[in-house]
Amino acid sequence: MQVFKFGGASVKDAAAVKNVAEVLKKYANKPTVVVISAMGKTTNGLENLVNAYFKKTGNAESELQKIKDYHFQIISELFPAKNHPVYNEIENTFVELNWIIEDEPVGSYNQEYDQIVCMGEIISTKIVSAYLNEIGVKNKWMDARGIIQTDNTYREGKVNYELSESLVKSQLMPQFDNSKIVITQGFIGGTSENFTTTLGREGSDYTAALLAYFTNAESVTIWKDVDGVLNADPKWFKNTKKIDELSYYDAIELTYYGATVIHPKTIKPLQNKNIPLYVKSFLNPDKSGTIIHDGGKRLPIPGYIFKVNQMLISIQPKDFSFIAEDNLSSIFELFSKYGVKIHVMQNSAINFTVCTDYDEQKTVPLIDELQKQFKVLYNTGVELLTIRNYDQETINKLTENKNILLELKSRNTAQLVMTDIQ
Ligand code: ASP
Ligand code: MG
Repeated sequence: MQVFKFGGASVKDAAAVKNVAEVLKKYANKPTVVVISAMGKTTNGLENLVNAYFKKTGNAESELQKIKDYHFQIISELFPAKNHPVYNEIENTFVELNWIIEDEPVGSYNQEYDQIVCMGEIISTKIVSAYLNEIGVKNKWMDARGIIQTDNTYREGKVNYELSESLVKSQLMPQFDNSKIVITQGFIGGTSENFTTTLGREGSDYTAALLAYFTNAESVTIWKDVDGVLNADPKWFKNTKKIDELSYYDAIELTYYGATVIHPKTIKPLQNKNIPLYVKSFLNPDKSGTIIHDGGKRLPIPGYIFKVNQMLISIQPKDFSFIAEDNLSSIFELFSKYGVKIHVMQNSAINFTVCTDYDEQKTVPLIDELQKQFKVLYNTGVELLTIRNYDQETINKLTENKNILLELKSRNTAQLVMTDIQ
C-alpha cells in the first residue's frame, strides 16, 4: 500500500488533471490511496463565500457562481460528452451549497465554515475520480468524512485515532478488493454527529500521513510543482537548493518554523511508524525529489524560513513582579484562548517577549486582554528569519540592512526578528 497526495496546484485545470492521470498510470502500480485537495484556489474562493454568507461582506450568490463556473469549465474540457453523469453529480453538489446559503446561518462561524469549505475537496475528488474511470484508470471514490473522525473543534478538528483507524480498516481497506486505486479528500473529517470538520488550512498532507499510518503504508508521496524540499522559499531567496534527503527531525523543525512545503502535522504520524515521505514533482515525476525518513543525516546546508507580517510583543507585569510560572501561565492561557501561535519567545526578569503572526481578528483582542494585567508594547510589520543549521556568515549576509530587534540561537537554529533599516 502507498499513499499519494495531490494538492490544489496539481488539479488546477483540465490539463493538470490529465497530468495527474499520467502520473497515476505510471506510478500507481500497487494499491494506492490517492488524497486530493480542492482545485487551484477553490478553498480561498469558498472562504470568500463563507464570509459573504456569514459576515455579509459580499454577495454570496455571486461568490458561489464564480466557483461553479470555474469547475464547470474544467468539467467541460475533461468530458466532451455533455450527457456524462458527472455533470449532474456536480450540479447536485452545487445545489446543496445553494441550499445552505439560502437560509440564515444557525451554527457558529467556524461550524458553518467547515460545512461549506469542505465542498472544494468533495467536488475536486468527484471530478478527478470520474475522469480517471472514464479513461480507464479504474478507482473507487470515498468520502473521507466517514473515515477520518474528529472532535467538534471546527476548522482545527482533533483526530480520534482509534475510531479513525477502525473505520479505515472496515471501510477503506475492503475497497481494494476490487480496485487498485481509492480516491479520497484531504483536509476534511467528520464528527460523531455527522457534521463536517476541517483539519486546518493546507491540511491535506496531514490526511495523507494519517491514512498511511492507519493502513501501515510503505510510503507517502506528496506530488508538488517543485522538485522537492528546497532549502528556502524561492519567493524570498535566490539560488535555492533542493535537499535530497532529510531526517524527520529536521523536517519537523523546518515545517514548524514555517517552511510551507509540507504541513507541520504531517511528520509525526509518519515518524511514529517509520514510513518514508517522498516529495516529488508532478511536472518531472521521474526525478528523485526529496526523501524524508529516519536517515539521521543532518541537514546538509542551511535552511532558511522567512516570514513577513509578524508582530513583536513585549509583556511586563504592571506591578514589577517577576516573569515567573504564574505570570507565564496566565499569558500562555490568553495566547491559547485567542489561537495566537508563538514563533519565538524570550524572557528576562520582568519582561516576556514573543514574536507571532499578525492576524487582526486574533491579535487585537489578545492585546486588549493582555493590557488589563500587563504593560504591553508591540511592533507590527516585522520579519522573522529562522535559519536551521546556521553559520555566522549566513546570518551576516541575510541581515545586511536590517535592524535586529531580537536574536535567539540554539545549537542548530537561529531566529532573528528584524525590520528594514529606514
Ligand atoms: N484545500 C485546503 C487548503 O487550501 C487543504 C489543502 O490544500 O491542503 O487549505
Ligand atoms: Mg493546498
